[in-house]
This record gives sequence, structure tokens and C-alpha cells, in this order.
Amino acid sequence: MSQSTVFDLLGSTGDNREVRAKGWIRTKRDSKNIIFFEINDGSCMKGLQVVVDKEQGIVDDVLNPKLTTGASVDVEGRLVPSQGKGQGVELLAETVEVLGEAPEDYPLQKKRHSFEFLRDIAHLRPRTNTFGAVTRVRNTLSAAVHVFFQERGFLWIHTPIITGSDAEGAGNMFQVTTLDPSAPPRNAEGEVDYSQDFFGKKAHLTVSGQLQVENFACSMSNVYTFGPTFRAENSNTSRHLSEFWMIEPEMAFCDLDGNRHLAEDFIKYLLSRVLENCEEDMDFFNRWIEKGNLENLRKVLETPFAHLTYTDAIAELEKASSSFEFKPSWGIDLQAEHEKFLTESVVGGPLTVTDYPKDIKAFYMKQNDDGKTVRAMDVLVPRLGEIIGGSQREDNFDKLHSRITQMGMDPQEYDWYLDLRKYGSVPHSGFGLGFERMVQYVTGMQNIRDVIPFPRAPKTISF
Ligand code: ATP
Ligand code: MG
Repeated sequence: MSQSTVFDLLGSTGDNREVRAKGWIRTKRDSKNIIFFEINDGSCMKGLQVVVDKEQGIVDDVLNPKLTTGASVDVEGRLVPSQGKGQGVELLAETVEVLGEAPEDYPLQKKRHSFEFLRDIAHLRPRTNTFGAVTRVRNTLSAAVHVFFQERGFLWIHTPIITGSDAEGAGNMFQVTTLDPSAPPRNAEGEVDYSQDFFGKKAHLTVSGQLQVENFACSMSNVYTFGPTFRAENSNTSRHLSEFWMIEPEMAFCDLDGNRHLAEDFIKYLLSRVLENCEEDMDFFNRWIEKGNLENLRKVLETPFAHLTYTDAIAELEKASSSFEFKPSWGIDLQAEHEKFLTESVVGGPLTVTDYPKDIKAFYMKQNDDGKTVRAMDVLVPRLGEIIGGSQREDNFDKLHSRITQMGMDPQEYDWYLDLRKYGSVPHSGFGLGFERMVQYVTGMQNIRDVIPFPRAPKTISF
């Protein structure tokens, strides 16, 4: 008999047909005549109740003690309307087989464990309600990312994970090398001789696919990347990881306004897909993780994102200057407390801030005519702050060249990037959405380490 998922069985009617289900036992109740146990297989949060009539001798005294929380089982029987409350159907067992026992030291009991505790137990974490829900929501979001772009004719570009470009304008990089760290070859000056390294030069893990993907935007027009990125920054916060996933669309013939509107459509699309497809999980988050989350997200869907220039945002912050530890003034980089204030107290929802001072933004952003600001945009959301960072790119060769020089970088290292401005340059724009921040935003999960299967952060690399 073919096997059904718990999700499929719970969604069908109890018509007494023969079915087979496999999963792990969550809970068990043993009474005089009947054994009840609930199995879960990850296909949904709810478990399927299995009912064993002891008189039928299906479960004997040897098997019964093996039916414990965490054990894996294979059950055949009839799907019938449930006698109990809270579920439509249950499985009346005819055969029960334990595939793998879970001895007494199995740590997942009914009590709740802290997320920190769970991070250290690889086998247990994905079997919890919360992490199961995160996993399903994450999956729905990943698929929705591709549907959104594919429906709009964007091409998915696989930008490299190992990069030969020395600095991509976004934070510290992890080096990739096969040289012996204790005795690297050295040149006459005593410096490490990277010409003898694996790639014949210094190599790093990418911090962003943007510079590479711009080459494809300036040929295929609308493109995006979706892959892992790595940042060796010592940020021990609840919204930074050392390895995270990023989605970076890049559009030719597109200015900052077009960029801003795509970002808004994109976030709203992702939200709507999760609200439609992950109802059970979203109800769970709303109840246990972030109260009022569902209502907030629904409101976001119905309301246009607010938009302020950086200069106006600073003016708003200065009005409330006394409430900040870090005093706002024109020219500063917005701090988490400022982003929180703007989204939560000034606009009450997502906010796009544009036209930042050029000195706090990356070299490739298009310079405004005022000589002070660049065509940058960040999308900020309540609780988290920045979720998207993007810009219109500088498409003027001379301006970009002189900015690179001004910032003390070597234009020769960027000749391949500057060339885009030499041959058929076009206005183009793009942004990066931190995928885990999006998962956090949608679920309300507090710590970014709890929305990725295996978190990597400073001094943290289990498994
Ligand atoms: P932040 O100021 O929050 O560190 P950033 O300015 O360094 O962000 P960008 O370089 O613009 O961020 O990256 C684009 C997006 O990638 C950010 O808006 C954010 O959603 C995400 N992101 C950046 N750094 C991290 C990180 N260390 N961990 C997880 N997501 C990140
Ligand atoms: Mg950063």
C-alpha cells in the first residue's frame, strides 16, 4: 500500500479506507483498553492521531514500551472520523511497526526548550514545532522568490561563491586559500606570495553577487541572484550571520524609482504567498512567537510603503533627538535605534529611505547632482530595521573611476566592472534582500540564528 503524508491524510475524509503513514511519535497516552499516539512527519505542524485497540493484540507488551516520543513508526490501518475533538480524522491501527527506537534520553519532551539549547542538538531542532514551521515557511519563501522573478521575465544568474574581486564594497571577507597557514611561500619582500596559491592570486568568499551580476544585467536586462553570501564581520547581533542567503535583482534601463517599486512589490508578493500557503504555521507564530503579527502583515499588504529621503528622515529623528543614545545629525549612518523609531513611531510600517550621504555608502552608487548624496535606498521594517539595501548604479565612467580612486581603491582591480560603463552604458539599478531577515520579518522570530538550518556566526560553527 502506498504511503501518504500526514498533511494529505489530515486533509482527507475518514472514509474507512486502508492507509499507511510513517513518522515520528510526538506524544502517547496509554489507557486500559486503548493506546493513542500522535505521529508527525514534517509535512505539517499537526500530527495524525493513531488509535490502537489493545484487545486486538496489535501492540504487545514488547512493542508497547518502544512506542515513545521520538521513535519512528510505520502504521497501517483505516482512516476514520475522529472521536476526539480538534481533528477530523484518525488512524485506526491494524499493524504497527517501530522502525527506530528513541531511548529514554531522547531530549524532546512536552516541555519547551530554549532556542539556544536547540541550536546545539542537530537531530532534535528540526523536530520541534517552531523549527518545523520555520522550515516550511522558508521553503515557501524560497519558491516564491523564483516565481516572482520568473513570472516577470528575470533570468536567474549563478554568480560565483569564490570571488577574485578583492572588495565588493560590503564588509569584511573570508579568505579562500590552500597555502599552508604555518609556512606560506614568501616573496623577496617577505610578503605571502599568492601567485603560488591555488588560484594564482588572493581569493575570497563572496559578500555579494552584485558586481558580477551587473555584467549580466547589462546584456540580459533583467536578472537576479539567489545564493549564499559570507561576511567576516564581528557582528554579534540578532540580525547578522556570517553565512546568509541573499536575493539580488539587477535591472538595466531602471532608475531608483523603478528599483524602489520593484522592492515593494517583491516584499508584498512574498508576504502574500506565505499568508496564503502557510496558514497553520503563521497562526502558530502569531500565537506563540509574535502576537499581532498576522494583523500587521495583512496591513502591510494593503498599504503603500512610506518613502522619505535620508535628509527628511534625519529631520524626523532630530525632532526626537533626546530619545536616542546615538544623536542623529546629517551625515551619520542610521543606527538600529533610529531605524526602529522611524518604522515603528514615525510611519508605523515599512519605510524606504533614499538619497543617503555618499560618504556612508558604497563606491558604485550613482551620484546625485548635489555632490553630497547618492541614489541609494534602504527598505526598513519594524522590529528589524534594514531588510533591503540597494541603489541606482553609477553609469558614468569618469565619475565611477574617480570615486574608486578617491576611496583609495585600485581602479585596475575594477577594470572589468568599469568596462560596463565604457561599452553601451545604461542606467541600471538593483538591491539585495537578506533572505533570513525576510524569514524573521514574516515569522516574528527574534534571532536570525533560528531561521537558518545551520547558523554560522562569530565563534559559532557547530556541525
Ligand atoms: P546592516 O547595516 O544591517 O549590516 P548592510 O548595510 O551591511 O546591512 P547590505 O550590504 O546592503 O547590508 O546587504 C543587503 C541586505 O543583506 C541587507 O539589507 C540585509 O537584509 C542583509 N544582510 C546584510 N548583512 C547581513 C548579515 N551579516 N546577516 C544577515 N543578513 C545580512
Ligand atoms: Mg553590514
